[in-house]
Amino acid sequence: MVRCESCGSMATTEIVFATGGGLVAVPKIQSGKLFCKSSKLSAYACTDCGAVFHIRLENPEKFKPFVDYSGK
Ligand SMILES: [Zn+2]
Repeated sequence: MVRCESCGSMATTEIVFATGGGLVAVPKIQSGKLFCKSSKLSAYACTDCGAVFHIRLENPEKFKPFVDYSGK
């Protein structure tokens, strides 16, 4: 059980972002490329207030090469 970050309700459920094959996240630096790295997203939704939280990449390791370690 995951408590809603917004209203504290326990009436939450795990969700995925689905548009056909599923909504995916793409590193901004790769956006527009034909074969870009991507990861599906998962999250939790509160069935009381509608809040969506704990949005996560299902494959965060895929994005490691795009981390900018230069430290702006
Ligand atoms: Zn809520």
